[in-house]
Amino acid sequence: MICASLTACGGKKGTSESSSAETTEASTLSVSTEATTEAQKKEIDYMALVNKLHALPDGWEDSIETVKFTNSVGDEVEVERKAMVEYLRLKEELEAEGIYVDLDSARRSLAEQQRIMDDFIRDYGADYAAKTVAPVGYSEHHTGLALDLYLIIDGEDIVLNEEMMKHPDIWEKIHEKLAAHGFILRYLDGKEHITGYAYEPWHIRYIADTDAADEIMTKGITLEEYLDDSIRDKAEVEFGSSELFSEDELNDIAIQVKCKFASFEGCTLTTLRYAGDASSTDEALVKMREKDGKEYTQVAEFLSNFYTSDDCTDFEPDSTIEDYQWWLALDEEDGWQLVTYGE
Ligand SMILES: [Zn+2]
Repeated sequence: MICASLTACGGKKGTSESSSAETTEASTLSVSTEATTEAQKKEIDYMALVNKLHALPDGWEDSIETVKFTNSVGDEVEVERKAMVEYLRLKEELEAEGIYVDLDSARRSLAEQQRIMDDFIRDYGADYAAKTVAPVGYSEHHTGLALDLYLIIDGEDIVLNEEMMKHPDIWEKIHEKLAAHGFILRYLDGKEHITGYAYEPWHIRYIADTDAADEIMTKGITLEEYLDDSIRDKAEVEFGSSELFSEDELNDIAIQVKCKFASFEGCTLTTLRYAGDASSTDEALVKMREKDGKEYTQVAEFLSNFYTSDDCTDFEPDSTIEDYQWWLALDEEDGWQLVTYGE
């Protein structure tokens, strides 16, 4: 299976050469289960946001406890321990309804992603690699909490994206059961501009909190939007008036800023405002294109005020920062991107 044509999930070119004999064993799963045994594991943040803007939190790989098993096509898959337990419960429930799934890929370490990146650079050049492979640290699969499912229909493994897309009714039944097990659907249809990825019915994410999962699935929102909602009360967003962008569009752009801001430790956002159409000049657009080498078509500036706590390390502690700049640009394929900030 190819998840987001390698961008979300990195490496596998999707072909299935499984035999039907193996397939029948899929429902029993856990062919070899091997747990990591290092003591002193810290509890990980199951709500951690990892996307094109947010890297895997520091120390994650030392804290995560995983389980390995072999799937129906003979590949070894590694999953975070709690996520695995809930996945097996979900799988059992689905089987009771005659729906069979297995795991195509789950955890991918930083080292593996680096290896995939190196292979692509060697085979296709740095430019192509940068466009097709998620940068090391920025794939949700690093967490061990993101799982790519595949379907088994009449004993046949359905692993290719285009084949899996032909079964929306089955996916719907699967999606209905996710929240009760602490899973959410991560890359929603029509939310590409927020997640950065096209619709993937097979890519599910374990967040542990079943109430949060239920809210996310019921509202049909992304993890980005859910986390944004939880910080919305703190920050005032002022859109002013714009001839260039609708309020919805400005809202989507503002989410990018707030997501990034969430990684500013010890900082509290007080206001975030659209700088106005006057900032969206051709000159600014050229600058953004030069920065990233992308063919951006529009540019927008936001300004924020925030204060810092006394243990803030990135900015002067205990102070108020005003008119901090954020520059975003629109890429026709990937949507709005945060290009630069604080300059
Ligand atoms: Zn995936």
